[in-house]
Amino acid sequence: MTLTEILDTFKTKFNPAKIINSLERTADLYDESSNNSEGNYSGEDLRNNPYSNSFGDSIITSKGMEISHKGEPLLKLTDVWKIYRMGEVEFAALKGINLEIYEGEFLVVLGPSGSGKSTLMNLLGCLDIPSKGTVFLDMKDIAGLDESELARIRGQMIGFIFQSFNLIPTLNTQENVLLPMEFQEENVGKARKKADYLLDIVGLSEKKQNLPSQLSGGQRQRVAIARSLAVHPPIILADEPTGNLDSKTGEYILKFLDGLHEKEGKTIIIVTHDLSIVKHATRIVYLKDGEVEKIEKRKKNESEEDK
Ligand code: ADP
Ligand code: MG
Repeated sequence: MTLTEILDTFKTKFNPAKIINSLERTADLYDESSNNSEGNYSGEDLRNNPYSNSFGDSIITSKGMEISHKGEPLLKLTDVWKIYRMGEVEFAALKGINLEIYEGEFLVVLGPSGSGKSTLMNLLGCLDIPSKGTVFLDMKDIAGLDESELARIRGQMIGFIFQSFNLIPTLNTQENVLLPMEFQEENVGKARKKADYLLDIVGLSEKKQNLPSQLSGGQRQRVAIARSLAVHPPIILADEPTGNLDSKTGEYILKFLDGLHEKEGKTIIIVTHDLSIVKHATRIVYLKDGEVEKIEKRKKNESEEDK
């Protein structure tokens, strides 16, 4: 992915003027902190189990987004089609998807390569609009929102873990995690504390100053995960979260998502071809050739292979 593509992606999500502002502020922060030596937020007290009570009611929860329509689906897709046009040729990547996703679900969308998972993920994340049909996020038809409203509601409600990470190459690990918080968190010290806490959770405390190019693929993915959690969204959307990870790191990340689901009540949506992920699911949507083949409800973590 080129820098231009990355910046374009961010432009659709954030106001670019604010990004520049935030980069300047981040730079200022570094000047200050170098005078200050390290120290006062070493994170020592945060190195506990991330699912302990402190996780629930201290720094992370401070800016939680309220879901305004309790009992209604968080996301609702009605007869959603996505048709890609390449010159004369049309290709229907999604063909009439109907899906309701409720608060507290751990939904796994399972399908082979090319079945439309990433296309569906973009629609669920309100990063793209359907060719036909409607997408409701928290009861709002996203087609009826202008780009800035959409960016705001998306930024508050959804944490993304993308296949391609979308890290900013010129920002180090900590700055990448800080970036989305710059728009929400008025207190810089608190934002840094939160970033350090999240990096500790994903095991990257030692890599705060590294640029993305100085990290392995798995480490970059972990930065993306930390960043996705920065603004405390009620929905976490992940595209193949284990795809670029070794199996140990993959397990760790899934345990972490499990913790967010069980202890924090977050709604987790994962699209994947990785069968081993389904054991974490409360519901599985089987996708094939752009259509929902079947939907299966299940009891979480109750699986033959666990025993
Ligand atoms: P998956 O994530 O399940 O591998 P995708 O959603 O990425 O599948 O793609 C579904 C289908 O749509 C594939 O056949 C792919 O080639 C096609 N497709 C995806 N994006 C585009 C695009 N921008 N233009 C044309 N075809 C696309
Ligand atoms: Mg994909």
